[in-house]
Amino acid sequence: MNYETVIGLEVHAELSTKSKIFCSCPTGFGASPNTRVCEVCLGLPGSLPVLNRKVLEYAVKTGLALGCDITRLTRFDRKNYFYPDLPKAYQISQLYLPVCRDGVIRIETKNGKKNIGIREIHMEEDAGKLIHDGSENLTFIDFNRCSIPLLEIVSEPDLRSADEAAAYVEKLIKILKYIEVCDCKMQEGSLRVDVNLSVMPEGERVFGTRTETKNLNSLREMRRAINYEADRQIRLIESGKKVLGQTLRWDDGKGKSTAMRKKEEAADYKYFPEPDLPPVFISQEYTDKIKAQIPELPDGKAQRYVNELGLSKSDAVIIAGSVEIADFYERVIKSCGEYKEAANWVTGELLRLMKLSGVSDERVPVSPESLVEIINMLKSGEINRIVAKQAFEEAFLNKTNPRQYVIENNLLLFTDAEEIRKILITVLDENQKSVSDYKSGKTSAFGYITGKAMKALNSKAPVKEVQKILKELLEQ
Ligand SMILES: [Zn+2]
Repeated sequence: MNYETVIGLEVHAELSTKSKIFCSCPTGFGASPNTRVCEVCLGLPGSLPVLNRKVLEYAVKTGLALGCDITRLTRFDRKNYFYPDLPKAYQISQLYLPVCRDGVIRIETKNGKKNIGIREIHMEEDAGKLIHDGSENLTFIDFNRCSIPLLEIVSEPDLRSADEAAAYVEKLIKILKYIEVCDCKMQEGSLRVDVNLSVMPEGERVFGTRTETKNLNSLREMRRAINYEADRQIRLIESGKKVLGQTLRWDDGKGKSTAMRKKEEAADYKYFPEPDLPPVFISQEYTDKIKAQIPELPDGKAQRYVNELGLSKSDAVIIAGSVEIADFYERVIKSCGEYKEAANWVTGELLRLMKLSGVSDERVPVSPESLVEIINMLKSGEINRIVAKQAFEEAFLNKTNPRQYVIENNLLLFTDAEEIRKILITVLDENQKSVSDYKSGKTSAFGYITGKAMKALNSKAPVKEVQKILKELLEQ
């Protein structure tokens, strides 16, 4: 029997605000443990939370960028559970009136385009971090992460494969980075994914029992966990057993999941409205103001590159996929106007070198001016493509000025046609036999003469130009 995999994702995105969601403790990765805490985020008796204005702004911005409806009156709820990383024994989250609902993310995989629904986005606080020291059998706790603002972005169960799930998360990351609400560094935990997954026989309409695999920290991990879990559930069903509703932990080293606990439902958390925070009214005026701040998003930008600049769709999608790369590209074409040539450099050499040297796309290490200089030198025939690539690599790795590099290394091509002509006359004089072969109809002799000519010019003249002059000389 064939099975269909049904996947819904819950993405937790840490918002890049300067302070935490309900207190003024600073955020930021890598501080010494328990140095960024106060009575509010530690939940000491008598302390009161106050909502960080920026968190609401980022939540609304995210909702608008994902096509959601913004809830006019939004409210916080207490999610009660006891766990060592949660000093209050409850998390301030949203259940009944989440800030955004009913959005969409458009994805494209090799099976085509598809719209994935966003059920809701809610604001909540993060918990602390437990650090297990296996060698001493101890567990340490760092409360710095307590009350770091999170958005939980919950998809509809519209995804059907690991490929679709990866395309969804990749697209979401692009958008969150574009609107600058989250740095999306999965390796630092600022974006984490929980996978809800069930399987059902193909053609069936009722979903099977789902499990939830928590806290996947890379797309690779997520893909592996999805494939593992789908296989596991199918094997259980095929052997006549039942899938249990469980919360699972993925062990990437072992390549398998283990059950942490029975899967909780909302009722298990005894949610109730947070009494210490008043509901928030979001006016149309406020929403409009935020909407005006949303920049052109990756899909729109890629479409514009295709329609207005004539780029191929694949180049357009790659360049528009990162706001930094797109900015770099736009600064280059603004100066040189060579849309396709610049796109080839960006999708080719630039991304190749960035990947090779492990730089992230947050900072393009070469200046747009350097690439403009190289494109201009190519256009004027001063350098060939091989030299252009060398000059670009030098600019990328050592910030060397391309023109200076070309001049200092004596790599400029002959651009003076008269100078080339003089050298070619000597070449023809020295190769009389080939010349008479050519003149008697042996066209293959022309290739030989071209070779000799390029050698005499140290390959520092465009071959087309050289051949043009050669033909003129031979026909005299
Ligand atoms: Zn605090």
